[in-house]
Amino acid sequence: MTASRLKVPPATAQKLARLGIQLPMDLVLHLPLRYEDETRITPIADAPYGQSVQVEGEVRQCEVQYQPRKQLLAQLADASGAIWLRFLHFYPSQQKLCAVGQRLRVVGELRSGFHGDEMVHPKVHSAKAEQALPEVMTPVYPTVQGLTQPVLRRLIAKALEVEDLRDTLPEALRQALALPDFADAVHTLHHPPPDCAQQALALRQLPAWQRLKFDELLAQQLAMRILYRQRRHGGAPVLHGDGQLRQALLTHLPFALTAAQLRVLAEIDTDLGSPHPMRRLLQGDVGSGKTVVAALAALTAIEAGYQAALMAPTEILAEQHYLKLRDWLTPLGLNVAWVSGSQKKTARSAARAAMASGDAHLTIGTHALFQDDIGFARLGLVIVDEQHRFGVSQRLALSGKGGEPHQLMMSATPIPRTLAMSYYADLDVSVIDELPPGRTPIVTKLINAARRSEVMGAVAGAVAKGQQAYWVCPLIEESETLQLQTAVDTHAELSAALPGIQVGLVHGRMKSSDKATVMAAFQRNEIQLLVATTVIEVGVDVANASLMVIEHAERMGLAQLHQLRGRVGRGAAESRCVLLFEAPLSELAKARLKVMYDSTDGFEIARQDLRLRGPGEFLGAKQSGTPMLRFADLDADQPLLDAARDWAPRLLAEQPEAVQAHLQRWLSGREQFLRG
Ligand code: ADP
Ligand code: MG
Repeated sequence: MTASRLKVPPATAQKLARLGIQLPMDLVLHLPLRYEDETRITPIADAPYGQSVQVEGEVRQCEVQYQPRKQLLAQLADASGAIWLRFLHFYPSQQKLCAVGQRLRVVGELRSGFHGDEMVHPKVHSAKAEQALPEVMTPVYPTVQGLTQPVLRRLIAKALEVEDLRDTLPEALRQALALPDFADAVHTLHHPPPDCAQQALALRQLPAWQRLKFDELLAQQLAMRILYRQRRHGGAPVLHGDGQLRQALLTHLPFALTAAQLRVLAEIDTDLGSPHPMRRLLQGDVGSGKTVVAALAALTAIEAGYQAALMAPTEILAEQHYLKLRDWLTPLGLNVAWVSGSQKKTARSAARAAMASGDAHLTIGTHALFQDDIGFARLGLVIVDEQHRFGVSQRLALSGKGGEPHQLMMSATPIPRTLAMSYYADLDVSVIDELPPGRTPIVTKLINAARRSEVMGAVAGAVAKGQQAYWVCPLIEESETLQLQTAVDTHAELSAALPGIQVGLVHGRMKSSDKATVMAAFQRNEIQLLVATTVIEVGVDVANASLMVIEHAERMGLAQLHQLRGRVGRGAAESRCVLLFEAPLSELAKARLKVMYDSTDGFEIARQDLRLRGPGEFLGAKQSGTPMLRFADLDADQPLLDAARDWAPRLLAEQPEAVQAHLQRWLSGREQFLRG
C-alpha cells in the first residue's frame, strides 16, 4: 500500500492542508461533524422545532423585503401546512429558485419566527418529481472558508471509492475485539444509514467508531515499539565503572541512600553497562533525591573514561546543580564545567575548550549546553533534569549530538498511567517511590487573600523560631513586566512590614550572578524570607525553609503548585504551605485547590490534573512533538488502549506485513515521528 498524492488544484490543496488533509487517506479519515437526514420528507405540519428536517412543497409567495433589512422571504406549502423561508444574504439565482410555483426540497431547522414558523438560510434545491431520495444520511464535515460541503463531500466520496481500504488487522484480532471491517467502518461513519441512531454516532459508541479509535491507538503503540526496538539495536558506549569515584562520594555524603535510590541506580547501571543507548525516565516526587542518583550515574560514566552532561530547564536550577555537584565532585579530583546562555564569552569558550578536550568530566548547563556546535570529546551520558519542561521533540533532538550517548531523563511530574502507556511508551521508567527519612509532611492551608496580613504574621513567627520562608508572587501571564513589578512591590511591602527580617528577591530578569548571590545568602540563612517569582518552581533546595506562601494560587497549574510546595518539607521542622487565593473562585479553581489541599502525593495530583484538564493540556504545547490522538481519548478509551498495547507486540512478531500496512495508513507522511 503506497500513499498517492491528492489530485486537486493547488488552491484546493491549500485549503485541505489547513484541515490537515494531505493524502487521499486523510480524506478517508476526515470524519463528519454531524449528519443531515435527507433520506425522508417530513410533512410540514409534523416538522419538529430545533433539529435538521427535510420538507418538500410549492412556493406560494416570494418577495424581497427591505424592512427591517433587505431579505428574501418565500412561503412554502405542502398538503399539511406552510412555512417561511428567510434569506438575509441571497443571490439572484436563489431568488429565481424560490419563484412562485416552484417545487422545492428544503433542509433546515424550523423555528417560530415573526411571520410564523420559519427556516433561516435553509438548504434549498428544486424537487423534480423523479428525483430519488438518498438512502444514507448526508455528512456535514468540518471545513474552512472557501471549501464548500459539496466539494468536500465529492472529494471524500471519491477517496472512499478509489483508496485501498483493505483491512490491515488480522481476522483473529477483529474477532477477538468484535471490531468491524475497516472499509465498513469508514463507509458507515461517512454515510450512515438513517436507522443508525444519531445519538450513538454523537457519543462515538458505534462499533465503527471503536474500530477507528483502536486503529489509531494501535498505530501509536506500534510506532513506539518500533522506536524502542530501533534504539535497542543502536550502539552506545559500554559504561562500566570500577566504583571508586562512587564510593568516594558516598563516604562524603552526610546520608545513606534510600532503598528506592539504590534500586533505581541498579536499573540505570544495567543500562549503562549495555552497548545500546539508554533512554530512561527517572521519576521521583519532589524531594525524593534524584540529584544524587544523577551524580552517581555521572560518576560511572567518568570512571569508564567518558564525559557526562547535565542539562536543566532554568538557569537558576542549572546553577544550583552546578554549585552542588562541584562541591561533591571537585574533592574527587574531577573537573565540573558550566555553560549558560548568559555567561561571558571568555568563560563560555573556556568551558567549550574543556568539553572538547575531554578535560571537563561533567558539564552542567541550561539548553545552551546543546545549542550551536558545542562538541564533547567523549560524551557517554546526558542527564536531563525536569524533563517534562523540555518536551518530547527535544528529547528526540538530543540524541543526534555526539554520537549516541546514554540518556537519563528526570522528572518530578509523574506521568499518569495512560500517558506512560502511550506517549512515553518508548522510554524505560524507573521510579523513586520513597522519600528520604526524617521528612515531615507538609500541611497545606487555603487562605483568602483578604487575610494576607495574618500570613505575614506567620512568616514572622517561623523566622523567630529560626526557620526560613518563601513568598511566591503571582503569575501574571499577560505581562512579564507587570509580574516583575509585582515582585518588586511585594518585596518592598514585606521588608517594611517585617522589620528585623532580611528579605531577599529573585526573579527571572535578574542577572544570573545576582540570582546566585541571593540564593547563596538564602542558603546561609543570611536572608530569612525569599520573595520570588515562579523562577524557583523547580529543584531549588534549601532544607531550613519550612514555610511556603503562594499568592494567587488559583492562577497556577497543579504541577507548578506541587513543585513549589515541594521546596519546603525538606528538613526536620514541620512545614507549611499557604495557598492564598482571591475570591470568588470558579468551580474549576475550587476543584484544583481542593486537590492540592487533599493530597501531597505527586502521582495522585497528576492523575487529578489529567482528569481536570485532559491529556492535550497536560502534555502542554511544548510536548507537541508527537501527534495528538484525533479519535481516541486516553481516559475514556482505556480498554481500547489496553487492547492495543497487548496486541502490538504480537503483531510485530507474527504479522510484519500487517504492521507495515497499518502504519502506512495511519502515519504515512508523518515519518518524522518514526525517527529515533
Ligand atoms: P529532587 O528529587 O526533588 O531533585 P533532590 O535531589 O534535590 O530532590 O533532593 C532533595 C534533598 O534531599 C537534597 O537536600 C538531598 O541532598 C537530600 N537527599 C537526597 N537523598 C537523600 C537520602 N537518601 N537521605 C537524606 N537526604 C537525602
Ligand atoms: Mg531536582
